Amino acid sequence: MSEKATRVAAMGEENVVRTTLLTGGCGFIGSHLAHRLRESSPDHALILLDRLTYAGSRENLDDLLDDSRVTLVEGDVADPRVVRAIFDSHDVERVLHLAAESHVDRSIASASDFVRTNVLGTQVLLEAARDAWGEKADRRDRRFLHVSTDEVFGSIAAPGRFDESSPFAPRSPYAASKAAADHLVAAFHHTFDLPTLITHSTNNYGPRQFPEKLIPVVIESARSGRAVPVYGDGLQVRDWIAVEDHAAALLAILERGTPGESYAVGAGEEHTNLELVEQICDHLDVRLGAPPEGPRRTLITHVTDRLGHDRRYAIDSSKVRHELGWSPTIEFDAGIAATVDWYLEREEWVARALARLPRERKGSV
Ligand code: NAD
Repeated sequence: MSEKATRVAAMGEENVVRTTLLTGGCGFIGSHLAHRLRESSPDHALILLDRLTYAGSRENLDDLLDDSRVTLVEGDVADPRVVRAIFDSHDVERVLHLAAESHVDRSIASASDFVRTNVLGTQVLLEAARDAWGEKADRRDRRFLHVSTDEVFGSIAAPGRFDESSPFAPRSPYAASKAAADHLVAAFHHTFDLPTLITHSTNNYGPRQFPEKLIPVVIESARSGRAVPVYGDGLQVRDWIAVEDHAAALLAILERGTPGESYAVGAGEEHTNLELVEQICDHLDVRLGAPPEGPRRTLITHVTDRLGHDRRYAIDSSKVRHELGWSPTIEFDAGIAATVDWYLEREEWVARALARLPRERKGSV
């Protein structure tokens, strides 16, 4: 038995608090997952490790921090002292690793933060879990879930779709950093028998997404009558999933997934960027009335395409649907409408989020 397992055993079963560690819990997807974890695992203490970069905020957790079983550790996932201190002082049973630099455009401008947080941070977390979780027999109920992206597979022509067997072909620095992290996770499973799970999800939409990403940028621009930027011809295809459905899939995979395996997660909602932007403009016209100058679609402005922009992402999520019984519940049109409505009611949230951007990052939104 490992030193840690011995110490925990000596504390007596009744005194050991089962703990879930969620990294990146103050961000977009992490905050939805934090709320869901509180509901689904009331017997677990929940530790949120978040560096609170511009992308994360305490505000995203609402009143979750009033709960005595929830602790926010403001710290860097790539700092071994911070991470090891958490494992030393808690019996961490499950790790959900979401902390990352997540904006592709920023990774094109500079990849160093992406490599540091996404690659080094994952390595630090893996080593801490490996050392804390001791012998294989002690690890049976432990889980390390790395939340990755479908972008590790690169671009695919219609009608093809990526699945768990697709080879990695990352084409942006962001995707490359996530693929590197995935390789480390898989290697720790193979080498150390760490009970890992990897998920590859499609693009998420919903409340609390930082207003540098396509959907909130379009909502904010169109709402305020500014030009609505669309990269290139706008015919890039993305496969969209509601963030609430993604969070539900992550819990299903955490609870019922097979260690060592990966799971592709998507709702099968393929739309070109242009279609999506037009849909958002139309919904704003319905909600706010069309401006006297004409419908908001006329604000759409094609701008120079993103470097190396992937043409199409699409995921076959049969495995998570058939093996784990997950399926999406939020219909796309209704989900987009609800997202637009959420942002319309949160102008101050958007202003506070944008105010967190460091000066050198402001220009690229
Ligand atoms: P986000 O940018 O909204 O949130 C990231 C969070 O990580 C923030 O709270 C930030 O403060 C925190 N963070 C950043 N660097 C950190 C560090 N060094 N130490 C600790 N915390 C740090 O991102 P998101 O969109 O919620 O994505 C979450 C995860 O899901 C990421 O790993 C991302 O790669 C993955 N993912 C996202 C999508 C999507 O569409 N958003 C799709 C598939 C996968």
